[in-house]
Order: sequence, then structure tokens, then C-alpha cells
Amino acid sequence: MTSSIAAFIALVCLSGVLNLCLSIYAFSKRHLYTNIAYFFIVYTVIITIYCFASAFGFLSMTLEQMKFWTIIQYIGIAFAPPIGLLFIMKYLDRNMNPKTYFTFLLIPFITLIMVVTNDFHHAHYRVLEIDSQLGLPYFYQEIGPWYIVHGIYTFGCMFVAFSLLLLQWKETTKEYMPQLIALLVGQLVPMFTAFFYLVGVTPAGVDPVPMVLWLSSFLYLWAIHSSRLFSLLPIAKNTIFNSINDGVVVLDSLNRLVEYNTAFRKMLPELDKSLFGDHFTEIWSRTFNERFPLDLTGMTDTKEITLKQMDFNSIYQVSTTPLKDEKNKKALVIVFTDITDIKELQLKLEYQAYYDDLTQIWNRRAFFQRAEKELEEARNQGVPYLIILLDVDHFKNVNDTYGHDVGDQALRHVASVCKLSIGEGSQFARYGGEEFVLAFMELSLSEGKKTAEKIRANMEQTPLITSKHVIPLTLSIGVAVTYIQGQESLQELLKQADQALYNAKRQGRNQVQAFAPVAKVFI
Ligand code: GH3
Ligand code: MG
Ligand code: MG
Repeated sequence: MTSSIAAFIALVCLSGVLNLCLSIYAFSKRHLYTNIAYFFIVYTVIITIYCFASAFGFLSMTLEQMKFWTIIQYIGIAFAPPIGLLFIMKYLDRNMNPKTYFTFLLIPFITLIMVVTNDFHHAHYRVLEIDSQLGLPYFYQEIGPWYIVHGIYTFGCMFVAFSLLLLQWKETTKEYMPQLIALLVGQLVPMFTAFFYLVGVTPAGVDPVPMVLWLSSFLYLWAIHSSRLFSLLPIAKNTIFNSINDGVVVLDSLNRLVEYNTAFRKMLPELDKSLFGDHFTEIWSRTFNERFPLDLTGMTDTKEITLKQMDFNSIYQVSTTPLKDEKNKKALVIVFTDITDIKELQLKLEYQAYYDDLTQIWNRRAFFQRAEKELEEARNQGVPYLIILLDVDHFKNVNDTYGHDVGDQALRHVASVCKLSIGEGSQFARYGGEEFVLAFMELSLSEGKKTAEKIRANMEQTPLITSKHVIPLTLSIGVAVTYIQGQESLQELLKQADQALYNAKRQGRNQVQAFAPVAKVFI
């Protein structure tokens, strides 16, 4: 055995032993790690096989033995790069399913079969024999077409793994940088060595890759120990940060942008990492043309804000929370929670609670809530408050003659005629079945009577016209008013209006009657 062969064997054995130790170590601690450990275990096991097969290859006494150990080496040569890539993808928390694994391992599997059956087709190695000048255990080889496929795939896997790690560079915080560098270099070592081997820079007739794999193994070992690769996954932390549905922004003690997550980026598509270091308030006003509405002086603050995004408005609950960074300076986290759907639901429920389904005007509950407040305000301001109560005449006949559906239509018609007759600034609600109520601030009794008369006349002149019928509708109306001296409650006022209404019915319907506030008699 020449000294160079002894050196080669020593190097590949070193790589083999180190990888074996790594796989045993990772296996014994697998319960401490996430799933990623299994990829690492498989990766190190096949590299171990590769290294030891390479060592045995150097000890071969015949071409047959050399070919046998080459086949065993191919378990590592073919499978290690894609499994290494899967390991990196898992580390970067990329989504993968069993189909992905299968697809990744298809070519290595074919490669292994090609190598095993090479003597029959020579598609992988066109020529594979003992080097005539160097002798045993050096190979003379000429590559076949499948070798090229295998070579491209192997380099492709290593290159993609390396590139994915590199893309993570910007996202990686200082503490996790050594871990990322260890993985990057761990990938680069076999990649470069294989490249030098292919271009013929390394000693002829021997595969140098297993000789350098101990270096990658050292880097991985270091990463596992010093920066707790596997048990703490920095990338997963980023993924968590970015998968939060709420927009999250981190500012430094001077309110400069330090970090933001994907959800926040969706809110502000103009945002990019070049704005790191810019004052958040400036970024905000540039984007939305308004001041940032929350206090950024380091206090906890919460507000609801509406942002116009594209052509719709989104409502966010925004809260600021101060944080102490490692230098004990106050940093600030701003969380934007999209509450548009909740708000819409709230509005819908509010609408349902306060609006009448049939006529889409206020219901009795809404009327009482607002009229109570208005009455109090009218009292405080010393102005009159007037109530008009109206009831459809002989409405039962409408239902009986034309059916309940037409009755409903008639009620909608009455509501719309009333609405058109009164204009803005008054409360108008469905008081009960076919009764409606109106309330006005600052309307005297005579003005109220006029308004009521206008409604009555409009109704009389506007029958309901359906496809089959013209249905005349009339209203009986009662009016009541309160003055500063009066102490009537809303209920009492409504009772007075109801009495006036009753009077209108008694006097023959389709008319307005008022309840006299002072004399308490009908006028
Ligand atoms: P009056 O002139 O004395 O007020 O006679 P009226 O027939 O209008 O009075 P009454 O109170 O006897 O009848 C009111 C009718 O209104 C009875 C009820 O079936 C009908 N009604 C109440 N709510 C609705 C509704 O939502 N839809 C329909 N179609 N009818 C309703
Ligand atoms: Mg009635
Ligand atoms: Mg009626």
C-alpha cells in the first residue's frame, strides 16, 4: 500500500467514523429534537456507508471487488445530495409531503440500479476498469449518458440546498448566523470537492468527496452543540412570526422600523426591507396620507382604525406594547388585528336588533332608545318634543281581502309614503303591527298637526298599486307634544298620542287629532 493510499483511507475513515458518531448521537437524542433529526440521521448514515465503502474500495484486490465497493458507495453518492436537500428544506420549514420525498429519491434510485447493472448496458460508466498506469485500486473511467443525468441532479440538489440557505441569510438574526454559516459551508465542502474532481484537479482515479466529508461533519457537530441545531429552529421561529394572521411591526427606541411580518406586508404592500431604519410614523404618513393614530412614546395603547385598502375599507384593532431590548432600551411592538369581519357581523346584528325586517325602518326598541335621549335633550334645551302616532285604517280588511302578502306590501308602502312626507331629522319607527310612530324635536303642536296632516293627505292620495289591484289606504293619526313645564315621560306622551289616535278613529278615521298639552283635552 502506498503512503498516499494510506492517507486516503485515513481521511475517508475519519469521515466515516465522524458521521457514524453523528448519526448515533442524533439517534440517541432524537426525542429531544424535532422531525428534522430523522433526516439528519438518514443523511449521516448513508454518508457513513459511502465513506467506509470508499475505504474498502481502496483495499480491493480485484476489479470485481472495486466494482462491488463502488456500488455500495453509490448508496451515499446518489442519495446523500437529495436527502441533504430534504434536510435543509425541513430545516427551512418548507412544506413537504410523501410525494415530494418520492420524487426527490427517484433519480438516485435509478442511478443505483444503473450502477448495479452497468456491465449490461454501460449507460452509467461507458468504461470502468483498473487504471492501466496507476494499477489497483485506481479506476480508469469513461462516463456514460446516465452519469451526466446523475451528475446534474447531484449538483442541482447541492446547489438548491446551498441557495435556499443563502436566501435565508437576510431573515436570520445574529444569534443564528453561526448555525446558518455552518450549514452553508457544510454544503459547500462536498460541492466544491466534487466539482474539482470532475474538472480533474484532484488526484486521478480516486473520488475525493468522502475524504473531505469529515469537515462537513465537524461543522454539523459544532452546529448541534454550540448553537443547538434541531432543538431550536430559528427558521421555524421566523415562520411562526410570519404565519401570525395579525400584522406585527417592531420598532426600536427611536420608533424606527426594525422588523415586520408577512401579514403586515400584506397591509402595506409598498413595504420592503430597504425601509428598515426609517421612522415608522413617516412610512405611515407617506402610505396613508395621515398621522399614525396611536401613541408611540412607549405606552400601551389600543385603538380601532379604518384603512382604505384597494377599493375596500378594513378595520383594524391596533395595539402598541413596549418591550425592553437586550440593551434595556425600549422597543415597541405594534399589532394590527383585522376586525373587519367582526365589525361587519356586529353591524349586522345591531341592524337586526334595531331595524324592522319588513319595512327596514327602526323598530320599537330603537325608537325608545333614541326618543328617550331626545326627550331629555329637548327638556334640557327647553324646546318642545312632539310625537305622532299613526295607524292604518281597516287594515285587517286589506289582509282579509288581498291576502297577507299584499298586507305586507301595504305596510312597506305606508312606511315609504311616511318617510317621503317627513324628510330628515325625525325619528320614524314601526311601533307595532300596522302602527307607526314619529318623534320630532322643536316642533310645536300646530307644526306637528300640519306635518301629520301632510302625511295623512299623502297617504290618501297614494294608494298601493299592485299588478292586480289599486288599494286605497288611509291613516288615523294622533299627535301629542310636551313643553318645558310638562313632566311627561315618553310613555305618557305616547299614551296621550294614542288617546288622540283613538279619538281620530272614533271620529270616523282618515284624520288627525291632537292631544291638548295644557288643558289635557282633545282639540
Ligand atoms: P282600525 O281601523 O280600527 O285600525 O282597524 P284595523 O283592521 O286596522 O285594526 P286591527 O288592529 O283590528 O287590525 C290590525 C291588523 O294588522 C291585524 C293584523 O293581522 C294585521 N297585521 C299586523 N301586523 C302585520 C304584518 O306584519 N303583516 C300583515 N300583513 N298584517 C299585519
Ligand atoms: Mg292597530
Ligand atoms: Mg288599524
